[in-house]
Amino acid sequence: MQVIFLGPPGVGKGTQSLITAEKLGLFHLSTGDVLRQAAADKTELGLKAKEIMEKGELVPDDVMIGLVRDAISKKEMRDKGFILDGFPRTIAQAEALDGIFVLLGYSDVKVVNITADNDEIIKRLLGRGRRDDTIETVKHRLEVYNKQTAPVKEYYSKKYIVFDINGVGSVQDINDKIMEALTTYNIKTN
Ligand code: AMP
Repeated sequence: MQVIFLGPPGVGKGTQSLITAEKLGLFHLSTGDVLRQAAADKTELGLKAKEIMEKGELVPDDVMIGLVRDAISKKEMRDKGFILDGFPRTIAQAEALDGIFVLLGYSDVKVVNITADNDEIIKRLLGRGRRDDTIETVKHRLEVYNKQTAPVKEYYSKKYIVFDINGVGSVQDINDKIMEALTTYNIKTN
């Protein structure tokens, strides 16, 4: 199974996708984590990404597409299946991912879209205390999300089943809803 987690920054995608990956035995690939690790390791990519991340901008599509293509082409990813957390974030990334999925023969694709209103998200992002979570960066990240990433959901709605999950509530309750969506769908189609 190939699962894509969508949703605004701060909605709980990271937490929920990790728990879900663990429960379903899937790999968890967070592009944000990969970039933060690269920044900590001071690689060329990491140093470039760090500046972009601190401004709340997006790392260029070609860089991100190459990174994800390499990761999901690996045998263990193919064998186990995976969750993408934080990718795709633009229509160009979504289109490229479609091509990569076709090329690799990945056809058991599901999309989970976690939602919460803007006030809730700002409150959470400011409470998180991450380096790129200053008020200016948070506001900018939300603008970038609304402009560039929100359309990705509409794009997927035309191709796949998108499960909308309300991201307000306890971690456990939200995860129950995600598991129900992903596993009920399996039963229906198998
Ligand atoms: P995240 O941990 O998913 O919130 O990502 C943190 C930051 O990494 C984002 O604000 C972007 O600057 C960058 N980033 C992560 N994933 C992507 C992506 N798919 N496309 C562009 N930039 C990304």
